[in-house]
Amino acid sequence: MARIDSRSAEQAAVKTTACLMAAAARTAPKTRGLDSLRTLILDGDELEALAAAMEAKGQSKPTKVPSFARDAKNVRASGAVLLIGVTGEPKNPTVPLNCGACGYGSCQEFINSAKAEGEDFHGPLCIYQLLDLGIALGSAAKVSADLNVDSRIMYSIGAAARAAGYLADCEVVMGLPLSVTGKSPYFDR
Ligand code: SF4
Repeated sequence: MARIDSRSAEQAAVKTTACLMAAAARTAPKTRGLDSLRTLILDGDELEALAAAMEAKGQSKPTKVPSFARDAKNVRASGAVLLIGVTGEPKNPTVPLNCGACGYGSCQEFINSAKAEGEDFHGPLCIYQLLDLGIALGSAAKVSADLNVDSRIMYSIGAAARAAGYLADCEVVMGLPLSVTGKSPYFDR
């Protein structure tokens, strides 16, 4: 009879959950039915590379942000990380919404505008891409909660991941680390 020890079972649970979270992000509703979402799962040696990138990112910011180093420790203690990002183009500009939420009077004005790289992300973005990202993040987080796998949405992971070249074609990226231990590493830190 085969035996699966607890560590092996928990590692498999983390990987399966990360895949199901990526699926939830994909099937989450998208504005105007247009999907610009990207996902990527990191585990193994990639976690140390990501954690190092987070520490470097926190140090490189003109205003030092200590949460980058703190969150990097969380990544090292995780079994996997799910990255979710979006590109920022207007949704279906051939039939433009022209809502103005991006600060421009029309989608065409947005398209014609100069985009800029900030400390972490590239903008501005069409607000509906960011709404899609938020819905996808919530859908993914719900899956981990339903499956009793600890997780947390982290801006620091996404900012560092993007700088390190993960999901480099996305303009905003967020990260969700996953863990199965007796106490969540992501809260009461
Ligand atoms: S946020 Fe800007 S780009 Fe997006 S629909 Fe509204 S006006 Fe167009």
